[in-house]
Amino acid sequence: MAAKRTKEILALLDEVYTREYKCYLNHKNAGQLLIATILSAQCTDARVNIVTETLFEKYPDMQSFADADLAELERDIRPTGFYHNKAKNIIGCAKKIVEEYGGEVPNSLEALTSLPGVGRKTANVIRGNIFHEPSIVVDTHVKRISRRLGLTKEEDPEKIEYELMKVLPKDHWILYNIQIITFGRQICFARSPKCSECFLTKNCREYGKEKGKKTK
Ligand code: SF4
Repeated sequence: MAAKRTKEILALLDEVYTREYKCYLNHKNAGQLLIATILSAQCTDARVNIVTETLFEKYPDMQSFADADLAELERDIRPTGFYHNKAKNIIGCAKKIVEEYGGEVPNSLEALTSLPGVGRKTANVIRGNIFHEPSIVVDTHVKRISRRLGLTKEEDPEKIEYELMKVLPKDHWILYNIQIITFGRQICFARSPKCSECFLTKNCREYGKEKGKKTK
């Protein structure tokens, strides 16, 4: 039974990783989390946190990001990669937030995804972490591991999000993402997952499948 399997997976995730909410991107408010999430595309959270430590001192609010000089902001965020696009999007986002939302990050999915460079993933990070709206964030870990666990067969993040919304109880929407990120970083790596240390082998569709392939 799919529902029973899902329940088992969630119970094990709760047991191992607890139900504690945490966000890997350092931030003090919605605006900072929005900027950090934009910067996190194709970049590790650890590197983003190093960059934002000084970035948020230099640009303390949305108005200062809106007024930023493009070339200077590009230099400031360069270590996060894709800095041309990210800087353009950050300034565009900040301008729209200042002009249309009085400097406050909006909370609806529609308003958030209308901001430059903000897709469903970033919008759901904000909705889940800041506004505590049940939201499912489909990042690389959630995509890979949900497929391995047989919770979805889809490839497209938006389709995965809708599928997970059907199978996961709402109280796990945000938690699932937090727990799966931890699981993906500690055990279920993209390459050579540590299956011998995994607590979800019974529920994994990939476990033992590829004979001869080392999964240490
Ligand atoms: Fe990932 Fe291996 Fe565990 Fe499957 S058994 S969930 S591939 S670590």
